[in-house]
Amino acid sequence: MLFRIYFLICGCVCVFVCSPALCSGNPNNSQRTRDRHGAGNYGASRVPHGTHQGLDIRCSDGAEVLAPFDVTLHGKLIVYNNPDKAAIDEGINLRGGGLCFKLFYVRADKSTGSVRKGERIGTMLPMQSVYPGITSHVHVQMCDRSDPTPYF
Ligand SMILES: [Zn+2]
Repeated sequence: MLFRIYFLICGCVCVFVCSPALCSGNPNNSQRTRDRHGAGNYGASRVPHGTHQGLDIRCSDGAEVLAPFDVTLHGKLIVYNNPDKAAIDEGINLRGGGLCFKLFYVRADKSTGSVRKGERIGTMLPMQSVYPGITSHVHVQMCDRSDPTPYF
């Protein structure tokens, strides 16, 4: 009963506060938890590379990636610049919802202009081909590398 009340309250709050789905097939922006390659929360350990400076939101390979706010597009980005990871080495720079942020592992349909909240930005790249067994995900990273979790 307590859980149900909690769920109802949080569900209502999220209608107004939380962003809509970032990835088709994941309407609640559920996060990557721990898998054989690590965990998806902000600050997770990435030995020997320090800590995880973004938030991983589950997204199946090939799924549609959607705008979490009304956004403007500010150019594509290269995630690794590593030929071994060429299949997923793309992302996009965005501004919207008062935020400056980046999405990794996404092939954007276009690199400039604007996309309305809930509409398509592009496609989730084939992460399983580079990291077999990982929980496929979009990596969200703020431009100032602060914690994106409160906004998603
Ligand atoms: Zn990540």
